[in-house]
Amino acid sequence: MIRIEDIVRHIDGFVRPLDGSQQILESGYLQNVGISDEQIDLRAVCLRASNAHEVLLIKVAISKPFPGRVLEGKCSCVAGNSAKCKHLVAVLRYVMT
Ligand SMILES: [Zn+2]
Repeated sequence: MIRIEDIVRHIDGFVRPLDGSQQILESGYLQNVGISDEQIDLRAVCLRASNAHEVLLIKVAISKPFPGRVLEGKCSCVAGNSAKCKHLVAVLRYVMT
């Protein structure tokens, strides 16, 4: 289980991804999250909050054993190369539950 402390450590204490990811989770914009037991690669599809017709693709690699730390991540949004955008954090929070 990924703990909230692990996510806060991953985003270096930035609050904005936590707030934004909560809104994503509550809005239902996070459409699909899959977990592969062999590679622990997470793939997700999320609708953009400002334009629900636009689909964002999120990829997150987590070290073994599950839930290890975030090795790398990417989202197709503008901030997605940092691996710390709200969409990626929403995926991490989703797998916490
Ligand atoms: Zn994003």
